[in-house]
Amino acid sequence: MKKLIFATNNQHKLQEINAILGNQFQVLSLAEIDFHDDIPETSPTIKENAIQKARYIFDLTTENCFADDTGLEVAALDGRPGVFSARYAGAKASYQDNVDKLLVEMKDKQDRNACFKTVIALFWEEQLHLFEGKICGQILMQPTGKGGFGYDPVFVPDGYQQSFAEMPAELKNKISHRALATQKLISFLQKQ
Ligand code: IMP
Repeated sequence: MKKLIFATNNQHKLQEINAILGNQFQVLSLAEIDFHDDIPETSPTIKENAIQKARYIFDLTTENCFADDTGLEVAALDGRPGVFSARYAGAKASYQDNVDKLLVEMKDKQDRNACFKTVIALFWEEQLHLFEGKICGQILMQPTGKGGFGYDPVFVPDGYQQSFAEMPAELKNKISHRALATQKLISFLQKQ
């Protein structure tokens, strides 16, 4: 079976990919390759951050590997928080802190357009491949719903009436930015 390293220790992401690729690839987490440090994420864009993380693990292992990076790009904030989505309200910010900061910054904004973007960077047989998933929608005036994580309670995707935090997880996981990028990665890998 072909080996593929996923530069993450997020169990949810690992389970998701293993459910689809588990009988075709041996997908290994960072812990499973005995890597326990933080990977530098110092790039100015989501795409470059994904590449930076994948390249870091590729340089270390020379194995096939991939990394993902995600952010929320808000039009009225010139694309912020973008690459800083996880640490928008500070280095140790909680999801709640980040949502609170976003709502304060958006308080007087008429334009509520925003998009979630995920980029997956894959090193496959030493070549870099990129897969992008994007979903656009509107930022609510206040949080709604209890599901999901991150900015889900304040994001309603175009064509839907519910926030990501209100909709069933199965629906979010079918239409989301991450799902779209992951589907593209999977269809590439299934051809290998
Ligand atoms: P990561 O690159 O997957 O770690 O995502 C970075 C940050 O983007 C997270 O800490 C969340 O704040 C936000 N984020 C990523 N994916 C989602 C999502 O599906 N819903 C809401 N927020 C998300």
